[in-house]
Amino acid sequence: MLEILDPWLRTSAGRIHAEAAHLTELDQAIGDGDHGINMDRGFKAIVALLDERAAAGPTDPAPTDEAATAELLRLVGRTLISTVGGASGPLYGTAFLRASAAVAGLAEPRSAAAGLVAALEAATTGIGALGKSTVGEKTMLDALVPAATAARAVLDRGGDAGSVARAARDAAASGAEATIPLLATKGRASYLGERSVGHQDPGATSAALLLGVLADVVG
Ligand code: ADP
Ligand code: MG
Repeated sequence: MLEILDPWLRTSAGRIHAEAAHLTELDQAIGDGDHGINMDRGFKAIVALLDERAAAGPTDPAPTDEAATAELLRLVGRTLISTVGGASGPLYGTAFLRASAAVAGLAEPRSAAAGLVAALEAATTGIGALGKSTVGEKTMLDALVPAATAARAVLDRGGDAGSVARAARDAAASGAEATIPLLATKGRASYLGERSVGHQDPGATSAALLLGVLADVVG
């Protein structure tokens, strides 16, 4: 799973940087206009973390793939929590911490597909718990919850990591778009009341972006 995680994070950092102005523009409409800046700062710190680890070289004895993946997910979560201001830092950070625990506790038979689904489900549950939020409130969960559901359905039908990631990507993209007519009831956008209607949620958009990159990387 580490061979998916590293390129996913690096490619995501590039895409987030390229889309930062767009994410910020979405947040200008219904928030405080910093979502692109927040995500870009967080993912730059993640790339610095990856580079630092690569420069340090392999550890001896080498950990299992699950242990190494869980450890990196944990460090990524901590990095996001410590570097990103705003609601999205602790929310995405917690998502990575929960994903780490899910991968560490993955039951046999382990596979990349099962790991992806377990990580996505745990991430989604963690965000909902921290944010006291659920689907339909115009947040990142409107991309992530349908993505986790779709990914689980594909896994249960015997799908591989690629088909799991593509299902998650497609459901997240639809879910992000479906936030446009929603009324925000959580986060800063909720302060706008009815004026939040008619705009796509920035966090749902960044979540869909991340899952889009995942599908590209898993192939
Ligand atoms: P802030 O709102 O503090 O400026 P960001 O702009 O980085 O932080 O992130 C805003 C995004 O965070 C929103 O678009 C939404 O998707 C997500 N968000 C905010 N509050 C919650 C919550 N309680 N639960 C889930 N997601 C939330
Ligand atoms: Mg904001």
